[in-house]
Amino acid sequence: MALLEGEHLTKRFGGVVAVDDVSFSIERGETVGLIGPNGAGKSTLFRLITGVHEPTKGQVTLDGEVITGLKPHQICHRGLVKTHQIVKPLEGLSLLENAAVGAQFGGRNPENPMERAHEVLEFVGLDHMAHDDPDELSVGALKRLEIARVLATDPEVLLLDEVAGGLDTDETEEIIDLIRDISDQGKTVFLIDHVMRALMSVSERVFVLDNGELIAKGTPTEIQNDERVIEAYLGD
Ligand code: ADP
Ligand code: MG
Repeated sequence: MALLEGEHLTKRFGGVVAVDDVSFSIERGETVGLIGPNGAGKSTLFRLITGVHEPTKGQVTLDGEVITGLKPHQICHRGLVKTHQIVKPLEGLSLLENAAVGAQFGGRNPENPMERAHEVLEFVGLDHMAHDDPDELSVGALKRLEIARVLATDPEVLLLDEVAGGLDTDETEEIIDLIRDISDQGKTVFLIDHVMRALMSVSERVFVLDNGELIAKGTPTEIQNDERVIEAYLGD
C-alpha cells in the first residue's frame, strides 16, 4: 500500500486553477522530486497535502487514512511535515530554541525537546551555533535550520519546498547530501526544486507539474527524455 496518496486534487483561487486534478502515490521510504515552471502549482500542491489549503476537490490519504480536512498540526502529529519556501525563524530565539519549538509543539515525541533539538542541529551541522541568533545565518544555514525544525517533529514524511532555492553550488551540494542522509534513514521525502540536476540526483522518481497538471511521472532518466517535459521547459 502507498504511504502517501493524492486523488484528483484540485485547487481553484477565483479563476485560477492552481492544481488541476492531480493524482499520485508515493511508497514508504521513497524519495520523489517535483519539478515544474514557476507558478506551476508545486507549492499549492504541497499545501493541499499538509492541510494549509483545503482542496476544491479531491483528497489525500496517509497510510490509508484520509487526512484532508485535518489542520496542519494534526497532520504533523501523524508524521507528515513541510518546510516553508520562505524561511522565517522565530525572532529572539536561538537556533536551539527554534528547533526545540518544532519538537515541543509539532512533535510526536515531546518528552525531551531540548535533547531532540540538539540531535537535529547536529544532524544538519549547526550544533556548534546552537546558541546563536538565527538572523546571523547565511541562506544555506537558514535552510538547514528549517530542515532541523521539521526533523525535530520526528516525521515519517518530509515535504521540502525549495530547500536549495537561492543557494550557491557548494551549499546546494551540502543540502543534497543532507537530503540523501534523511532518505537513507528510511524517511519518505517529497521535494520541490528548480535546480533540476540536484533534484534528479537524489530522487528515485520525479513528477512534473505544468499549469496545475501533472504531465509526467517517471525515473529521472525517463523525465529528462520526456517530450512534454522538454516542451514545458523549453517550448513557448
Ligand atoms: P509554484 O510553487 O509552482 O511556483 P504556486 O503553487 O505558488 O506555484 O502557484 C500556482 C498558481 O496559484 C499561481 O498562479 C499563483 O499565483 C496561484 N496562487 C498560489 N497561491 C495563491 C493564493 N493563496 N491565492 C491566490 N492565488 C494563488
Ligand atoms: Mg513554490
